Amino acid sequence: GELPGDPRSDSIPREVLHACYTKVSPSVEVDNPQLVAWSESVAQLLDLDPKEFKRPDFPLLFSGASPLPGSVPYAQCYGGHQFGMWAGQLGDGRAITLGEILNSKSERWELQLKGAGKTPYSRFADGLAVLRSSIREFLCSEAMHFLGIPTTRALCLVTTGKDVTRDMFYDGNPKEEPGAIVCRVAPSFLRFGSYQLHASRGKEDLAIVRTLADYAIKHHFPHIENMSKSESLSFSTGNEDLSVVDLTSNKYAAWTVEIAERTASLVAGWQGVGFTHGVLNTDNMSILGLTIDYGPFGFLDAFDPSFTPNTTDLPGRRYCFANQPDIGLWNIAQFASTLSAAELIDDKEANYAMERYGTKFMDEYQAIMTKKLGLPKYNKQLISKLLNNMAVDKVDYTNFFRLLSNLKADLNIPEDELLVPLKAVLLDIGKERKEAWINWVQSYIQEVKWNTFGFLSSTGISDEERKASMDSVNPKYVLRNYLCQSAIDAAEQGDFGEVRRLLKLIERPYDEQPGMEKYARLPPAWAYRPGVCMLSCSS
Ligand code: AMP
Ligand code: MG
Ligand code: MG
Repeated sequence: GELPGDPRSDSIPREVLHACYTKVSPSVEVDNPQLVAWSESVAQLLDLDPKEFKRPDFPLLFSGASPLPGSVPYAQCYGGHQFGMWAGQLGDGRAITLGEILNSKSERWELQLKGAGKTPYSRFADGLAVLRSSIREFLCSEAMHFLGIPTTRALCLVTTGKDVTRDMFYDGNPKEEPGAIVCRVAPSFLRFGSYQLHASRGKEDLAIVRTLADYAIKHHFPHIENMSKSESLSFSTGNEDLSVVDLTSNKYAAWTVEIAERTASLVAGWQGVGFTHGVLNTDNMSILGLTIDYGPFGFLDAFDPSFTPNTTDLPGRRYCFANQPDIGLWNIAQFASTLSAAELIDDKEANYAMERYGTKFMDEYQAIMTKKLGLPKYNKQLISKLLNNMAVDKVDYTNFFRLLSNLKADLNIPEDELLVPLKAVLLDIGKERKEAWINWVQSYIQEVKWNTFGFLSSTGISDEERKASMDSVNPKYVLRNYLCQSAIDAAEQGDFGEVRRLLKLIERPYDEQPGMEKYARLPPAWAYRPGVCMLSCSS
């Protein structure tokens, strides 16, 4: 009965034209909602006193059941390419922004509830989220942050006390699951798709693309807004292969290049820790270069370039681990062509942004892999041989690098002792494969000893120094899928202890944590059962 535009009721699924958002309040129903976990680190960002989390009304506020005083909730309108195809309007179908907090450092943080009910962008779906996927998003947001990878954050996780019906993909039967809500936090949730949608709607809406670009630059890229001719040097790469474009004459070109480079570093970071996002649609690409939207993601256990945690992406494997760098570029190409369509950049500038993506990715990826192996300089052959060996023998990606740092760089170690430090990850390998690994370790030791001046030397860095440096980039603990699943199983029975333990664990991924070694173990056999190792988009 209410009119469209009423902030409480305006959640009728529809095309929303000529607008970037719709005011809509959370409509989720709750029954004795409970606080599952909260991040101390995000609370600090928001200047929130830990006592706030003990307030009896906290779960009501952060489920959206009680309005947060002063907030004007809204959902964003965006589009996107899904699996390579233009999908038209998508938008926040179950995420509702409560508002922004300006902290004591004058940083602006947007707070968003995910799973708080329908919006005009919910299309055919229910606007809700289940505990299983909310635990995954909550923990992985924080895990990525502490691994040093740019990401949206998660303040807290609350159960709604109500069930949600989900079609489980592996048997096709609907299932009731407990509902939950994550409060996500980021400087901005703007995506490539936020720009694409308006450009797709014809001439009339191109002005919106410009307005939204101006908004993002002003608030999130102020250094570009204030860019002057004299600063142009900072954009010169010194790479002669590139037809250098003067970025000081067009702020939108400088902006596109920065987004391309941030995306490139982001993807390089993912490859380094073995993270597969799972759904790299353009509506899941943050303009700030943050990891955004944790759905069917997965960390590599056994190294497999074709690892695809998202069942919706089979058999195509568009978003498999090894494709992520190319997909990043494809997505940047879509973003750049959107800005070209809006006449904010020209073709030359668009191409230049793509070139810069490529250069930045290679620079960062090479630097990361060099550091992971503790090498004095990048060695393409050594690294590709290693990855090939790891794929053949299904070697655990995380544990391999962590153990490699224990290797003594001594050319006199007898062959039959060379693999001892790696034995926990080189399981069940035959004689022939053993030889391949001995060969690799020998060339690795040679390379480690070959210091930057280019001669064999014992004056390079010590084994201890190399280990410390390697361990600072090779995590001991990552949020393996089976660990998440154990926490989910317990939480679904009402025990949130494991979620909280995992949160503490992943806050220090590079540290040895006595007593926590079992969390670094390889996945047990049950981890391969359907629904654990396989996840779908719809959650
Ligand atoms: P994703 O693949 O997670 O990026 O989601 C694609 C689109 O589907 C986005 O517009 C989401 O907001 C929307 N969506 C996903 N799940 C739901 C849900 N349960 N209710 C409403 N919208 C949803
Ligand atoms: Mg999404
Ligand atoms: Mg999602």
